[in-house]
Amino acid sequence: MKIQISHLKEGLHHIDVLEPAEKFGLDDTDTFQSDIAVSLQIDKQTDSLYIRQLVKTKAKFACDRCAEGYTTELKSDDRIVYTSDLELIKYDDSLRPLAKDQTEIDISEDVREALLLAVPVKKLCDEKCKGICPQCGTNLNKSTCNCTQTRMDPRWETLKKLYQKEEK
Ligand SMILES: [Zn+2]
Ligand SMILES: [Zn+2]
Repeated sequence: MKIQISHLKEGLHHIDVLEPAEKFGLDDTDTFQSDIAVSLQIDKQTDSLYIRQLVKTKAKFACDRCAEGYTTELKSDDRIVYTSDLELIKYDDSLRPLAKDQTEIDISEDVREALLLAVPVKKLCDEKCKGICPQCGTNLNKSTCNCTQTRMDPRWETLKKLYQKEEK
């Protein structure tokens, strides 16, 4: 996905892009089913481009607890600077080189990276997801099973032992 910059005058520009995930090199189309919305705020100066890159999309994951598929929003907000001032780049390697006659920039890798970093480490369809019964495999969000009565949260084990002692 390339953005033309040669026609941009000095100053602030706003560019919105809405494209399918493949355009940004996101090949995992099971996860990235929706179009990716990229909003670029570009401040063009004599020898630099100051870019604020906002990315938003919906992605599909499998819940860590119940294994059901669910869709969630992914967002990112990054700053990217291109400059043709090679002295600056020497001291700050987060800056990107910009050729004097450069006509476009490729945002695919930045967008791809931003979204992959936005993927949650813990994937839950809902904070309150009850998961799957380890004994019979029932999805406890959808129904209950007969094993649930005998199941006990391990955090209560200590208390349970205390009560048993008192009963004696
Ligand atoms: Zn779940
Ligand atoms: Zn069960």
